[in-house]
Amino acid sequence: MISIKNLHKSFGELEVLKGIDLDVEKGQTIVVIGPSGSGKTTFLRCLNILEKPSDGTVEIGGLVADFSKPMSKKQIMAFRKQSAMVFQHYNLFPHMTALDNILEGPVTVQKKDKAQAKEKALALLDKVGLSDKADSYPHQLSGGQQQRVGIARALALEPKVMLFDEPTSALDPELVGEVLQVMKDLTQEGMTMVVVTHEMRFAKGAADEVLFMDSGRIVERGTPDEVFNRPQEERTKRFLNLIQ
Ligand code: ATP
Repeated sequence: MISIKNLHKSFGELEVLKGIDLDVEKGQTIVVIGPSGSGKTTFLRCLNILEKPSDGTVEIGGLVADFSKPMSKKQIMAFRKQSAMVFQHYNLFPHMTALDNILEGPVTVQKKDKAQAKEKALALLDKVGLSDKADSYPHQLSGGQQQRVGIARALALEPKVMLFDEPTSALDPELVGEVLQVMKDLTQEGMTMVVVTHEMRFAKGAADEVLFMDSGRIVERGTPDEVFNRPQEERTKRFLNLIQ
């Protein structure tokens, strides 16, 4: 479903991604961990070209983006549709209800039929446990509820892949569980997901594979059991000692 080859990203002189290779099968959940500044967010943003990679190729759902060549806006837009991103700070439109936030992508951007999109949006609100909050505005919702709307909004775009960038790190601890539960449900339904998170419980319980990133490289990868219980690399061991 995802095939990444030799992905590089520099900001000016600073090389943040130094050649990432990764294949993700349909239905897999990949969790990316690593120290602050190691390039996790940049990696995720490169996957739907919120940041334009400096080199390499990414294939998602059969569409290939080759960053060694210029890409037209149309090509970028088409590639972006393959995935949808959930951000740390939800980024909901404050003047729109939960329902309208979810409808914005399908109706305004994708020009889908409004009645059908509404039916789907209501089903998605139900899926994330918020069927009673369709008419609430973001300021009337808790952080956990807003993030669940954020997940529903991303799902409404019908992506082949969901990308999560530290989706729970802005939340009060007691609200983290409800968001992780929605993500676990998606994993179990067979969604293909790449998740950057500091939530090791989620990584242990839901990941098919854990990637440990440091200084713009994948230093170690394996099942949660392999990476957490039997890490091979010194850098992984040091990181896990600090956080566990
Ligand atoms: P954290 O866990 O703290 O979110 P991270 O592993 O996600 O960190 P990134 O946010 O990808 O790391 O940042 C990696 C490096 O790239 C950092 O040194 C950061 O300062 C730099 N960086 C990120 N975005 C930009 C940008 N738009 N312009 C310049 N430098 C950037």
